[in-house]
Amino acid sequence: MTTTSIPDSPQPTPPETDLPDAPAPRNSSPLATAHSQLATAVEVLGYDSGQHQMLATPRREIHVAVPLRRDDGETVLFHGFRVQHNISRGPGKGGLRYAPGVDIDEVRALAMWMTWKCGIVDLPYGGAKGGVAIDPRDYSTAELERVTRRYTSEIMPMIGPDTDVMAPDMGTDEQTMAWVMDTYSVNRGYTIPAVVTGKPLAVGGSRGRGTATSAGIVHVTAAALEEAGVPLTDVTVAVQGFGKVGSHAAAIFAERGAKVVAVSDQYGGLRNDTGIDVKRLLEHLAATGSVVGFDDAEPLSNVDLLGLEVDVLVPAAVEGVLDEQTAGRVRARWVVEGANGPTTTAGDAILARNGVTVVPDVLANAGGVVVSYFEWVQANQTYWWAEHEIAERLEHRMTSAYGDVSALARRQDLSLRDAALVIGIQRTAEAHRIRGLYP
Ligand code: NAD
Repeated sequence: MTTTSIPDSPQPTPPETDLPDAPAPRNSSPLATAHSQLATAVEVLGYDSGQHQMLATPRREIHVAVPLRRDDGETVLFHGFRVQHNISRGPGKGGLRYAPGVDIDEVRALAMWMTWKCGIVDLPYGGAKGGVAIDPRDYSTAELERVTRRYTSEIMPMIGPDTDVMAPDMGTDEQTMAWVMDTYSVNRGYTIPAVVTGKPLAVGGSRGRGTATSAGIVHVTAAALEEAGVPLTDVTVAVQGFGKVGSHAAAIFAERGAKVVAVSDQYGGLRNDTGIDVKRLLEHLAATGSVVGFDDAEPLSNVDLLGLEVDVLVPAAVEGVLDEQTAGRVRARWVVEGANGPTTTAGDAILARNGVTVVPDVLANAGGVVVSYFEWVQANQTYWWAEHEIAERLEHRMTSAYGDVSALARRQDLSLRDAALVIGIQRTAEAHRIRGLYP
């Protein structure tokens, strides 16, 4: 099997943020993108540099060493992080990522996006994120369990159902969350399901959580299309990334009548202009671990997928794939960001110039944290809701958040990204203002 990776982008000019204490990010890094987006929204909102700095700087960070005794007895060491970007509206909330390239700046960017995202869909949470720099594919299940339990013990002082609540992200899943919950609970002496979300149903997970991010992507896509008078059943869709987010998004798009014509994962992609049979592709993925080799489609590279003539492009893999090299190739009319940070600041400018409507990550992929919130509420009440209640409440939150963002965008002539960020940032700043500064 060959690995197709997205080419590195050249370094654009760093955004001018005038933040003395803010970390210095790599120029095209997720943190540079997050800071540049914040700077634009702060300008629209007219905040001063003190407020800007407060919003740009994480409240708490922890960097931990995570040693692992491998199955063969050898010891290796990983670096782990947890960042609470903001906790003014409630506990920190955000995923745990296992990927080889994880570093503190990436986790800071992802934590900041979580703050704005929770504000946009009006959840009583701040933003947080965690990560371990490990490639989970290289380790056995038993090794990943030991890494997860050690990482959880190391960050124990920072997490809890009222302080910081984890969920799955890239490279982690519901089993990882069960290990985190168990480690935390065993150390406290009793079972505390609300310390994580995205758990298996058997230990207090919520119905609908596994597909929530993807269902939310399809809800906001349908809302954006409706504004343009285009039915979902008339569109073609390409999805980059076929993991927890991308695979379910492709399946739900197909279920709702859209034609999924291309998908990819890190090993390569596929194209079938008459429509991919997503159900059969999911079986192929379960059997082989990749979309590559599926019999009913032509091979396609990840970069070529981004330039396909489709109506809707959903980047649902990694950050920074739509940059100054690739954004100009996009021929889709809508880019709906399933991944966090798939578009760099330079890429965003190119898409805007070419008339592509971008439904931004902080809105488009918020369905996961919405149902995580439902899971947390259910765990705190120890009362579980029916699947249809979750599906209806999710759809309502997503479409009404889309409506608020779109209305502001039209009113103030902003992009959907800037409008979404303005809403999320304003709600966070308002909480700061009302609470006041201690002491
Ligand atoms: P995952 O690990 O389940 O899947 C990632 C997918 O992307 C896999 O198919 C992988 O092969 C593919 N991929 C990895 N590197 C790639 C590359 N260079 N080119 C093309 N494909 C590549 O992760 P996930 O949970 O589906 O998360 C995907 C994105 O969505 C991430 O940005 C994540 O932060 C974001 N997100 C996830 C959730 C969630 O609920 N899981 C919620 C909101 C946002």
